[in-house]
Amino acid sequence: MEELRVAIVGGGFSGTMVAVHLARAGGVRVVLAEKGDRLARGAAYGSRCERHLLNVPAGLMSALPDEPSHFLDWLRGRDPEAGAGTFAPRMTYGDYLAGLLGDAASTGRVDLIRDEVVDLEAGPRLVLRTSGGRAIEAERVVLALGNPPPGEPAGMAITPGLRGYVPNPWEPGALDGLAGDEPIGLIGTGLTAVDLVVEAMAKGHRGPIVAISRHGSLPQAHRPSAGPPRPHVLAAGRPATARALLRTVRAEADRCRSEGGDWRSVIDGIRPVAQDVWRSLEVPERDRFLRHLASRWDVHRHRIAPEVEEVLASATLAGRLRVVAGRVESIEPDGDSLAVRVRGRGRADSEVLAFGRLINCTGPSRDIRDRAPMLVRSLFGRGIARPGPLALGLDAGASGALLDRDGNPSDRVFAIGPLLKEGLWETTAVRELRVQARDLAEHLLGRRPAG
Ligand SMILES: Cc1cc2nc3c(=O)[nH]c(=O)nc-3n(C[C@H](O)[C@H](O)[C@H](O)COP(=O)(O)OP(=O)(O)OC[C@H]3O[C@@H](n4cnc5c(N)ncnc54)[C@H](O)[C@@H]3O)c2cc1C
Repeated sequence: MEELRVAIVGGGFSGTMVAVHLARAGGVRVVLAEKGDRLARGAAYGSRCERHLLNVPAGLMSALPDEPSHFLDWLRGRDPEAGAGTFAPRMTYGDYLAGLLGDAASTGRVDLIRDEVVDLEAGPRLVLRTSGGRAIEAERVVLALGNPPPGEPAGMAITPGLRGYVPNPWEPGALDGLAGDEPIGLIGTGLTAVDLVVEAMAKGHRGPIVAISRHGSLPQAHRPSAGPPRPHVLAAGRPATARALLRTVRAEADRCRSEGGDWRSVIDGIRPVAQDVWRSLEVPERDRFLRHLASRWDVHRHRIAPEVEEVLASATLAGRLRVVAGRVESIEPDGDSLAVRVRGRGRADSEVLAFGRLINCTGPSRDIRDRAPMLVRSLFGRGIARPGPLALGLDAGASGALLDRDGNPSDRVFAIGPLLKEGLWETTAVRELRVQARDLAEHLLGRRPAG
């Protein structure tokens, strides 16, 4: 019998782990196409800065859901001192994934291609076309493209190529060529901004860093003492509105605190049901959540390692890092610098700050159509895919099966990871992606009904 041929587009965590499961199972041929040079590592684990740490302790970072201590065991092989609570460097995690992919490739069932897929034709066979002129034929296609590129900071139209401005901090080299004392401006105060502060400090940068966001809130840090996840409060009589959700979670956090607990255990308790809660919200309520609550959820849910919190604290104490709650109103070239007008939250006046480098850390665009790469435009143009109702990601059914222009689920083209944000919301971290990768591989192998 001819082997099933599966083409995977995108070689970050998601694409890599689908390939790993398929190769381990056998009976399939896999082609994995990756456009960048961070094969297996992707944007997250391709960092070259050793101080960029995982934001989840090692004991919870296994790439294999059925072998929970897989990463920790691997890490201990390298560093006998490592424990379940260790926050390992992200580049080390990248080595772990590269090892898993290397093992998969050594079965002879996985072909690795360094090329960008720019088009998909869905005739009797699926044909992927690459920018390098390749045609890859397959019976099944898995799209593991990761997050969309960052959007423009709210309300801004920035001249392309503006000197000193970095529109996409996930491309390598956001801090390259910066003089040691030049002021750095960060638009955004989330995990990406934190990464850049840590990297600047690690590189011995001596200039001031100003991070600006609407609320001016840096991510919260993990506390080993926070205790186990508290049983979640949202399943029974689940709130159907974003506002009710906020009220319930706040009340539970207050109750937890009054009992001497830590709010982190409340958030950790909700995490396993976050996808169900999201699904229970109607589209207008999801929209409300995105506009009013998502940034608060992110600050509490995407927590940083205590070591990273210390870097931020000492940079703040030394007067090197300033966090501003406010809005960037304009960005103008001014000699070798950029003049950035910032209006502080609740203030009538504004201040103008000068930066040698201004980096967009606002996170992935919340609109999949916004500056969509060629492949995504091709999928929409050919009617193979459509954006979800909020355009947060692709519209998909069970097992990530793409819904076509008319809403029919495909039995040949699937998505995994952040592309599924529209339907799942929480679909970016290893904890969710490792399960998706295993389940999708089993579905492709015909071992698991769509689900
Ligand atoms: C900075 C950062 C830190 C993180 N830290 C953690 C953490 O500590 N713990 C945790 O659980 N999660 C963390 N995450 C979440 C992380 O996103 C996921 O764990 C995971 O890396 C996402 O993998 P992915 O494969 O879906 O996407 P990506 O890693 O983005 O991979 C997608 C890949 O597809 C390629 N690609 C895209 N389009 C094409 C195309 N047309 N043709 C060919 N190739 C293409 C891209 O080049 C890229 O390599 C972090 C995320 C980031 C950004």
